[in-house]
Amino acid sequence: MDSTIMDSPLTVTAMMRYGTTIFGDREVVTCAGDAPSRRRTYAALGERTARLAGALRSLGVDADQRVGTFMWNNAEHLEAYVAIPSMGAVLHTLNIRLSADQVGYIATHAEDYAVIVDASLLPLFAKVLPHAQTVKHVIVSGAGPADESVLDSLAGPGRSVHSYEDLLAAAPGTFDWPELDERSAAAMCYTSGTTGLPKGVVYSHRSTYLHSLGACLGNAFGITERDRIMPVVPQFHANAWGLAYAALLAGAGLVMPDRFMVPAAIVKLMETEKVTIGAGVPTIWQGVLAHLRTAGGDLSSLRTLVCGGSALPEVVQRAYADEFGIVMTHAWGMTETSPLGSIAHEPAGVTGEAVWPYRVSQGRLFCTVEGRLTSDSGEVLPSDGKAVGELEVRGPWVTGSYYLDDAPEKFHDGWLRTGDVGTLDEAGFIRLTDRAKDVIKSGGEWISSMELENVLMAHPSVAEAAVIGVPDEQWGERPLAAVVPVAGAVVTPEELRSFLGEQVPRWQLPERWSFIDEVPKTSVGKFKKTTLREQYAAGELQVTRLEPPPR
Ligand code: ADP
Repeated sequence: MDSTIMDSPLTVTAMMRYGTTIFGDREVVTCAGDAPSRRRTYAALGERTARLAGALRSLGVDADQRVGTFMWNNAEHLEAYVAIPSMGAVLHTLNIRLSADQVGYIATHAEDYAVIVDASLLPLFAKVLPHAQTVKHVIVSGAGPADESVLDSLAGPGRSVHSYEDLLAAAPGTFDWPELDERSAAAMCYTSGTTGLPKGVVYSHRSTYLHSLGACLGNAFGITERDRIMPVVPQFHANAWGLAYAALLAGAGLVMPDRFMVPAAIVKLMETEKVTIGAGVPTIWQGVLAHLRTAGGDLSSLRTLVCGGSALPEVVQRAYADEFGIVMTHAWGMTETSPLGSIAHEPAGVTGEAVWPYRVSQGRLFCTVEGRLTSDSGEVLPSDGKAVGELEVRGPWVTGSYYLDDAPEKFHDGWLRTGDVGTLDEAGFIRLTDRAKDVIKSGGEWISSMELENVLMAHPSVAEAAVIGVPDEQWGERPLAAVVPVAGAVVTPEELRSFLGEQVPRWQLPERWSFIDEVPKTSVGKFKKTTLREQYAAGELQVTRLEPPPR
């Protein structure tokens, strides 16, 4: 029997129409540093979106051509988010923090035809262009650079440079939006390449729509028209975790930090714009916490800080709760999972101290996302909260392949292999212990680098700690702790090891310790342990070796 329900396609166009009309008076606010923030209503955004689509069409953007963005989080980036998929083309957010040749590799692999670039990023983008031969149009948003020669250097044989505002001014204020297949490509994003070459994930209109609805649910972030969301997570990092589209669906306002991403500017913006939900990786909220402690700030409008991308240390979560009354929302996900995979709210009825094991976990599998654990040999393990294995997921917003890249090792019987290792319990809570590549296997037993880091970072003299496995003659591998002390603090390896020994088994305590100025980070602010391992192998880390702990 067929259903009697209308088959309205779930598209970005539908979200755009809804958000820019029903919530036409809502605003996207873009920080302008010391100057007053730029404000634009969703109704105005709707009109500019039509102009942008018309302008892109006049440059020859058609069908599923890729249009890249090389931009900060701002109103124009939001216009690109909406216009490009709605006109039937494919939005491709480029990561501004990768090296020029990597961005070039990605733009070429995706065959980007045009790229919209923030004027402040032109000097960086000029270095990308020689590696990005498919790009025929460079569209510059914002006031151009003082140095005209930068603009000149962007044009070349078969490639022209345009002003974003001039293009919009010349285009009509309406656009004949096409009927789109909800399964067609809307946007693409490359993994940030913590491991291996970046791989392209292509989101469909349907997956984007469903994921945006999901983000609004109470079991996620409970987004409504009363919210004002500040995505500090870049729009090039897994679609700013879906928050921009979710805001349109829910009628929530958006507060964009643009290039002003330092803690002082973030706090000021949260205060003046009465932000209710902030979102960013742990290093962002750690920086903001340090700023709040020294300079203070009024966060009374905040409902929660969403945090994911890497494990959120318990000490940071507790500090926000105890000192500022803010319950953070820890979430796990990947570029491959759109990204929401699991979200860490304690179950109903759990109160007091008992909430913490849930809040610090990677969270409960989010609706529509299924998960399971598998062993090294690929056999499915019980979800009993005890068995440790690789997490595999599947669902309607999880990628089932990569763009022009078979990568069979990333899939298993229709499931995506996440490369993350941990436990899964009956209630769907995930507790990660490591990335598969970071697992430390010592004398046949596994040591969780995440657990050691979490405990170490709770020491008052430790600002950051990363634990890696290094070769060891006797045990195969042993943990090495690389520690960044809090500025001005004096702390010894012996002291840190005995602190660690209060919470973890003795045989897991590292004997190798290194004090460093900063943990190397990836383009999206995660610990880059590959670099630490290389530095150790090259003898570049100064290591203190303590006597091994008794087994
Ligand atoms: P990349 O894989 O290139 O780092 P992603 O941003 O897609 O790019 O990263 C996804 C990975 O980030 C996950 O597989 C996981 O290892 C890590 N991750 C994301 N969220 C969390 C979290 N809450 N706790 C621990 N690790 C996380």
